[in-house]
Amino acid sequence: MTDESLDHRKTRALRIVKHLKEKYPADPKTALDYETALDLLVATMLSAQCTDARVNIVTKELLKKYRTAEDYAKEDIAAFEEHIKSTGFYHNKAKNIIAMAQALLKDHEGEVPGTMEELVNLPGVGRKTANLILGMIYGVPGIVCDTHVIRVSQRLGLTAHKDPEKIEYDLYEVIPQEEWTGFSNRLIMHGRDTCHAKKPDCAGCIVNYVCPSAFKV
Ligand code: SF4
Repeated sequence: MTDESLDHRKTRALRIVKHLKEKYPADPKTALDYETALDLLVATMLSAQCTDARVNIVTKELLKKYRTAEDYAKEDIAAFEEHIKSTGFYHNKAKNIIAMAQALLKDHEGEVPGTMEELVNLPGVGRKTANLILGMIYGVPGIVCDTHVIRVSQRLGLTAHKDPEKIEYDLYEVIPQEEWTGFSNRLIMHGRDTCHAKKPDCAGCIVNYVCPSAFKV
């Protein structure tokens, strides 16, 4: 990436956007199940270090029981932990989700706010979660820099950084704004289907001709 001009990187990025849209033409969605903004916020907080499939199993019952910020805010932590245990790191997740709900009641009348600044001020909410909420609920474009986006964008030579926030800004520089949400969701799907962490399927990869890591990982 270091020797490549910004213009050249932008040209490659546009080709990657185009091909990933051909591969995944449907409107990009998250793999997490939800109905409301609060459901999605809780599901995303549960998904740290856990598969989306496991989170969906847990939230199937959880989201029927907890419908509002008040339902979470008044819950006993130990009782809540029991419901989310199988997602791992449940002490911290329970503490953060209940504190997040209490903050929603205190500062936002129980509603999930719609700005980056307000979202990242909630306990346990970082930029990745905030961008997911902004993109999926409020239609505000953003890059959700999860483990797949980090790995695949590095391999594609769209960033040389390791820090998710720096990667996010590198991608903002080369991807058109209206594509940010869709691009990050498609990169996640591409990472799951083809550009696997251990053994990427470069031979079957639709963007191998513009990938500097093709057949080298
Ligand atoms: S060519 Fe290989 S390393 Fe590059 S994006 Fe495709 S699967 Fe990943």
